[in-house]
Amino acid sequence: RRKRDRLLHRLLQTGAIDSSTYHLALLEPVPTRVLAFPVLAPHLSRMLHQRHGSGSIRTTLKRDIQQHAELLVRQYSERLRNLGIHNSAALIVETRSGRIRAWVGSQDFFDRARHGQVDGVLAPRSSGSILKPHLYALAMDNGLLLPQTRLFDIPSAFGTFMPSNADEKFRGLVRADDALIHSLNIPAVRLLHEYGVVPFAHFLRQAGIQTLQREADDYGLSLILGGAEVRLYDLAVLYRGLGLGGRFAPLHVLAEDSTQHADGRQLISPGASWLTLNVLRKVVRPGPEQFWFRFDNARPLAWKTGTSYGHRDAWAVGVSPEWTVAVWVGNFSGSGNANLGGATGAGPLLFELFNSLPHAAGAEWFPRPERELVPVDLCPDSGYPAGPACPDPVPGSAPAWARPLPLCPFHKTLFVDKNSGEQVCSLCWKAGEYEARPFFVLPPQVLNYLRLSGSAPPAVPPHRASCPAKQGGSPLQITYPGPGSKIWLPREVTGTLQKLTLRAAHRQPGRRVFWYLDNRYLGSTTQEHIRAVALDEGRHELVLVDESGEQARRIFFIKRSEE
Ligand SMILES: [Zn+2]
Ligand SMILES: [Zn+2]
Repeated sequence: RRKRDRLLHRLLQTGAIDSSTYHLALLEPVPTRVLAFPVLAPHLSRMLHQRHGSGSIRTTLKRDIQQHAELLVRQYSERLRNLGIHNSAALIVETRSGRIRAWVGSQDFFDRARHGQVDGVLAPRSSGSILKPHLYALAMDNGLLLPQTRLFDIPSAFGTFMPSNADEKFRGLVRADDALIHSLNIPAVRLLHEYGVVPFAHFLRQAGIQTLQREADDYGLSLILGGAEVRLYDLAVLYRGLGLGGRFAPLHVLAEDSTQHADGRQLISPGASWLTLNVLRKVVRPGPEQFWFRFDNARPLAWKTGTSYGHRDAWAVGVSPEWTVAVWVGNFSGSGNANLGGATGAGPLLFELFNSLPHAAGAEWFPRPERELVPVDLCPDSGYPAGPACPDPVPGSAPAWARPLPLCPFHKTLFVDKNSGEQVCSLCWKAGEYEARPFFVLPPQVLNYLRLSGSAPPAVPPHRASCPAKQGGSPLQITYPGPGSKIWLPREVTGTLQKLTLRAAHRQPGRRVFWYLDNRYLGSTTQEHIRAVALDEGRHELVLVDESGEQARRIFFIKRSEE
């Protein structure tokens, strides 16, 4: 201690440190022993030491891979330091065996000033968008979408929760694969609403996310936008699972148990996993124009980024048939940084690591699981299975065991007067002067955004005014709820709000009516136009469209109920 204090005094005298640093430093305890950690993988070594005591433990780490990964993480972190981003972590796993080959807990274990001893592989952090691919894959298995299926990207309120896209734009309609590639928030939240927060949280827990402490309802729909905390370790399990065809199994770090074969749980079908990997392969890589070094883009990688709320965390996780690489970049202190965009924050390090890994020829991409996929004829405009009114279908693939998607809900055959272009029906058409024409009929709000971008389909023409069916107003009427009505819903014994039964009437019996609630397609009715729906508190919009494009719209409110 005396030796240390003498040194500090000299530093003070020479002006190397100021007096407050001097006095603080005097109070620091003097280390009594040299830290006994080995140079490689200090975070993992510390954890194994705590768990298994001292002695020799053989791990699955590969010396050369670990060494090189530590170097790349440290160098990358040094480049980001000027931007105010201080910490990075990475985990490298063999996709097939699940053996961890590199465990880099931070940029430098001995960098005490920047919390280098925190293990970023095991630290729970907000997930950002990194869980979206798994929701899309599950949605494929549940007959909600295929990569080509058009989703609504319009202002959407769920109670008081109104998600927005990172660019604050609305696209009207967007392909599911594009929505995932560009990580759009609105389609993802709408999809989670449709799929269900409870089953999705259940999937995450089963797949290996160990940090979901709260009840699923507590996370709510923000679960898909980073409402939950996850660990880098668990994300490697989650993405490796896609690479294993939807099988989720623990990773191995101890040499002795890595020989045990863990089957894991099949939670997503091999077909849906493969389709999702092919979408993630198209995620735009951080290119030289965005960053200051080049990438070798020769080897395909299915990858995704995530940025947490307030730019506190940047994730990037990628999976190839050989390697699963997970990267986190941020500040252990929790401070946000505007430079932490997903693609620029963690993406470049992911590719530096991935491109540095050894690879065998012929293992570039996941083989198509032929028996797990079936051909489907898809409507080119909607990405749903083509119906009779759709244009020539395009070939697509669907998971073989998935619940089938409904037929294209947008294309409808309407009868049009050849001269006036007006819509006609059996009550008002003139023999030989009308023809059947297909129309792409969309809910009004979707149409509005497509008009803004100049991509709206041809408008549905109005019905002939002199038609007897038109006399007395629209043939399609919403009979309940009434305009602007405020409805109080009692609670079930389970605490959830009771369903509300919506009613409509059509003057022409047997007409098919398509239901949209808050711009979500509910399905269609033909005989009795009644639907019971679960509703949250707040404002709701019901839009009905019949086969001839006739519409009825109603706004109503669900009031806050007593507990
Ligand atoms: Zn269609
Ligand atoms: Zn008519």
